Amino acid sequence: MANRGDAFLARLRRGEVLVFDGAMGTMLFAAGLTDGACPELWNATHPDVVRGIHRGYFDAGSDFVETNTFGGTRLKLTAYGLQDRTRELNVLGARLAREVCPPSRFVAGSIGPTGHLPDWFAPLGDVSEQTLTENFREQAEALAEGGVDLFAVETMMYPEEAVLAIQAAKEATGFPVMCTMFFQFERDKGRDRTMWGTSPEEAAKILLEAGADVLGMNCGDGGPERAAAIVRAMRTVTDAPLIAYPNAGLPIVHKDGRTTYELSPEEMVKGYPAILQAGANIVGGCCGTSPAHLARISALVKAGR
Ligand SMILES: [Zn+2]
Repeated sequence: MANRGDAFLARLRRGEVLVFDGAMGTMLFAAGLTDGACPELWNATHPDVVRGIHRGYFDAGSDFVETNTFGGTRLKLTAYGLQDRTRELNVLGARLAREVCPPSRFVAGSIGPTGHLPDWFAPLGDVSEQTLTENFREQAEALAEGGVDLFAVETMMYPEEAVLAIQAAKEATGFPVMCTMFFQFERDKGRDRTMWGTSPEEAAKILLEAGADVLGMNCGDGGPERAAAIVRAMRTVTDAPLIAYPNAGLPIVHKDGRTTYELSPEEMVKGYPAILQAGANIVGGCCGTSPAHLARISALVKAGR
């Protein structure tokens, strides 16, 4: 039986532009998650909230959503003393999205950075490559057990960790893997680079060679305008499906401690025709976006179908 991940890739191959979802963290904070608490624990303690966020994005027109498991590697969960619940929190995260996923739409298992560097990154590195690989494999297997169709390896800061995550997820499951990196806009030089200095073109080549089925950018500090520039740059080196899900501009921290983002749904969507023009096959939103943002983005994409 062909798995649903194959159906996902087939739609991209037919030239369809797909709509991803928006922020999870921003929505959890709005629902009462406090700073310093573990977002993934809410898969166990607040399943209705997490399900409701997924449902909000499906209702807004998302063709697929990602699980609340961004920090779900054992290394990340160790910071909260939750390492023994690694499998459970990832399985639950996958199930919550699956439960509200309409037929013919999809669930991507979110896999974020571990926050650690391999030991050859002296003097900052403190884990072996094998440990990183084991972390990603464990998370991917649990997400697959919970019912995801593909993976979203995302917000990667340096290519080496992205490569290990792509390879581990592929080897563990055979499911399609999307991989997106975090780019900073270097304003003085007018260019986009990862935290470790990788250009969009170099990143695209590295991620493809590692086996990513879809590649691109997410988060970042440049908003939709830089997303378009990054997609354009990646498009010069590959015909593979590209994805962009930028932040709603920059965060604004208010006096009362609340954080909001610069771009309203109306303002944000104005940047998306350029992203599509640049050659993106999938668009969505990262930090600061909501179902209201995604409804606008979805309407734009669907008007072009
Ligand atoms: Zn983000």
